[in-house]
Amino acid sequence: MKLIAVYLQQILKRFMSKLVIVGTVAFDAIETPFGKTDKILGGAATFIGLAASHFNVDAAAVSVVGGDFPQDYLDLLSNKNINIDGVEIVKDGKTFFWSGRYHNDMNSRDTLATELNVLADFNPVVPDAYKDSEVVMLGNLHPMVQMSVLEQMTSKPKLVILDTMNFWMDCALEDLHNVIKKIDVITINDEEARQLTGEYSLVVAARKIHEMGPKYVVIKKGEHGALLFHDDHMFYAPALPLEEVFDPTGAGDTFAGGFAGYLAKTEDYSFENMKNAVIYGSTLASFCVEKFGTERMVNLENSEVHKRMQQFKQLTQFNIELS
Ligand code: AMP
Repeated sequence: MKLIAVYLQQILKRFMSKLVIVGTVAFDAIETPFGKTDKILGGAATFIGLAASHFNVDAAAVSVVGGDFPQDYLDLLSNKNINIDGVEIVKDGKTFFWSGRYHNDMNSRDTLATELNVLADFNPVVPDAYKDSEVVMLGNLHPMVQMSVLEQMTSKPKLVILDTMNFWMDCALEDLHNVIKKIDVITINDEEARQLTGEYSLVVAARKIHEMGPKYVVIKKGEHGALLFHDDHMFYAPALPLEEVFDPTGAGDTFAGGFAGYLAKTEDYSFENMKNAVIYGSTLASFCVEKFGTERMVNLENSEVHKRMQQFKQLTQFNIELS
């Protein structure tokens, strides 16, 4: 029975868009006003993959872990139909570790530790079967690794999306500028957009980022939603107001995974369709923050996503006659 399911999955995959995801697969230790975790599953590629698994796409993760990384975590990704052939295991190395503490408002956090470990010498290898992927999602890690993934693509992707963070602006700004020149969409949070451009106004910051290369700029504003910019066009989506936010870790990556997954599935890379992708990204991110780490995303059903999309629509719809 299992064999038949695997065979059917292989056939179905031939009709799906391919999405290659590069990013960290990590151990995270998180402190929020609600509690504290030991090392749990985290990483940009993990959150992106889990979010993208809600769309009918053939997704593959490219990353690296150490010999200390539990097989159960890798199985968890495979069970979500995320191909992990491109996840290298360095037997005598240690997995990337990140630790953060959130402030009471849950919108800002301090990084307590970033231990690159196996990431320090990582040479990504995109599996042959994914070198012609339609969509490339360059998740958060060293910009030279992001560039290497782009260079391995044998046919020009339809869309390249990049996510990054202040850590790489602090230690690899020139490399980051080089890769930003080559992408279509950047997803970045408000603080990071300000750091990258030196501009306080997000409208001006988005314009400056356009000038660096990307035609589309998404600025994530945590619980205040997300902005999408393209030339002189702008779109804003709020975040779904939630009763309880437990742990925001991974919300930005989850947003990016939903955004990329939706666009890969629909194969429509227009500004109009990107608005829907922003809504899907925001909806998925609203689940991510409800539990610690990946816990909520691992058990999330498509029916729950659908229901929340309906809530989202109601939240943002109004009917005013304008003369
Ligand atoms: P987010 O909350 O969306 O910014 O993402 C948090 C995730 O990013 C965590 O699971 C971390 O493992 C991962 N992360 C933290 N710092 C870095 C970094 N410098 N490079 C790559 N991934 C990171």
